[in-house]
Amino acid sequence: MSTLDKVVAITGASSGIGEATARELAARGAAVVLGARRTDRLDALVADIRAAGGRAELAETDVTRRADLERLVALAVDRFGRLDVLVGNAGVARIAPVAALDVDDWDAMIDVNLRGVLHGIAAALPVFREQGRGHFVTTVSTSGLKIVPGQAIYAGTKNAVRTLLEALRQESTDGVLRTTAISPGYVRTELVDHVEDPGQREQAQQAMATLGISPDAVARAIAFAIEQPDDVEIGELTIRPTRQG
Ligand code: NDP
Repeated sequence: MSTLDKVVAITGASSGIGEATARELAARGAAVVLGARRTDRLDALVADIRAAGGRAELAETDVTRRADLERLVALAVDRFGRLDVLVGNAGVARIAPVAALDVDDWDAMIDVNLRGVLHGIAAALPVFREQGRGHFVTTVSTSGLKIVPGQAIYAGTKNAVRTLLEALRQESTDGVLRTTAISPGYVRTELVDHVEDPGQREQAQQAMATLGISPDAVARAIAFAIEQPDDVEIGELTIRPTRQG
C-alpha cells in the first residue's frame, strides 16, 4: 500500500535520475509534477505512471527561464492543491580543462545547474512560506566533493548549489523549510552523452558503463529524504558506486 501523500515537482524528469525519481515517488503514492524540455518523453512517462494508478502532470520546462519554473509550481498547486517538495534535478555536464576556454559550455552549466536551481527556489519559496512547509531537494554531485581535472566549472556549479542550500537552511530555522543536497557519484544515465570532446566523452561514458549505479538507487535516496517526518531534515546524502574512488 502506498503511503507517500506528498505533491512533488521534479525538474529534469525526462530521463535518468529525474525519470527514476518520478516513477519511484509515484509508486509510493506521491503526486508528481514533471518538468523538462523533451515533452514527448514526459508524455510517455505520465502515461506510464497513470496506467499504473499513479498521479502525474507535466509542463514543458526550461529551467533557464524563470517563468517556466513559476508555471511548474503553479501547475502543482492548481492540480493538487499544494506543493510539498521541489526536486531541482535538471543538470548538464560538460567536461574539459579550463584552458580549453569553452565559454559557451561554462554558460550552459551555470545557466542550468545554478541559475535553474535559483529559479526553482524563487518560484517555490513564496508557496512554501505561505503553506508553512516545504522541501527543496537538489541533485548536486560528488564532483563537488572530490575535485577532478576537467570538471572545474561543473563542480563549481554543484558546490555553489550546495552552499546555497546550506545558507537557505540557516536562514530558515523556523521549521518551515527543509533542504536536502543529494550527491550522486557515477550513475548510468545520458548525462555525459552530450560532452562534445570525443575523448572526454568516451572516457566518461566508459566510467559510467563500468562503474555506474542505477538511477533507481538515487531515486530511493531521494524518496528516503522526502519520507522523513517534518521535524527531520536529511541535509546531505552521498550515494556512489561502492568501487568508485
Ligand atoms: P540526464 O542527462 O539523463 O538528465 C538530465 C535532465 O536534465 C534531463 O531530464 C534533461 O531534460 C534536463 N535538462 C537539461 N537541461 C535542461 C533545461 N535547460 N531545462 C530543463 N531541463 C533540462 O542525466 P542525469 O539523470 O544523470 O542528471 C540528473 C542530475 O544528476 C543532474 O543535475 C546531474 O548533474 C546530476 N548528477 C548526475 C550524475 C551521473 O553520474 N549521472 C552524478 C552526479 C550528479 P531535457 O533535455 O528534456 O530538458
